[in-house]
Amino acid sequence: MVAQENNHQLGDFIKGRFDFIRERCEKAGLDFDEIMEKIHKETLHLAGSEEKKAVAEERLFEGAILSSTFLPDWLDKIFLEAISRVLQGPGSSLFTTSSERPCIAFEAGRFNARRQAAGVFRVFFSRKTPEEWLKTTFRTIYRQCYGEEAANRLLTEKINDKHFKVYMDNRGLEKASPIDCSTVIGYLYGGLENLGAEDILVTHATCALLPGSLAEKCEYDVTWR
Ligand SMILES: [Zn+2]
Repeated sequence: MVAQENNHQLGDFIKGRFDFIRERCEKAGLDFDEIMEKIHKETLHLAGSEEKKAVAEERLFEGAILSSTFLPDWLDKIFLEAISRVLQGPGSSLFTTSSERPCIAFEAGRFNARRQAAGVFRVFFSRKTPEEWLKTTFRTIYRQCYGEEAANRLLTEKINDKHFKVYMDNRGLEKASPIDCSTVIGYLYGGLENLGAEDILVTHATCALLPGSLAEKCEYDVTWR
């Protein structure tokens, strides 16, 4: 499948990444400006071409990002990878397959769910049960991030009242990667957490985006109490 040149309304998600880095630094006693400089450098390194470096510089680090801003998928992808590389620490994996083993990308997704539940997506979170949230809100937010086509392929399967499976097919989208899947695990976890669900477990044992994977969909198993 050929990757599509895509832009999505990622402004608020990217703004959230900056807030996440700041919170992470505060908690860990790290110097925000110093960490930001490292992430900036790493992002430009991952951008590769001079053309992409210029876009990253202008769109991410110089210009004002509004919640409504559309940004290229690839930019979100390399920024997230750069954040993970700088904050993760050497030797540990940049992605996870379970909320039981959180990585930086998972925490970034969880952070955005918490932040957006109190901010731009407040109305989508209010007075929802976890089940309603999974079936409606999550799809709305997912559409904004991944576009109409991918949202049409999103499936939610009810196993029982507190056990669901969510299937998505992001193959062909430029931002899709196992690191991105980790943000999805985090967002599902954070979203449910915001609604008062307890003992949440999100596992992503089947990932279509892992190198060599034969799976046609990414499958997320979601349970809570
Ligand atoms: Zn996946």
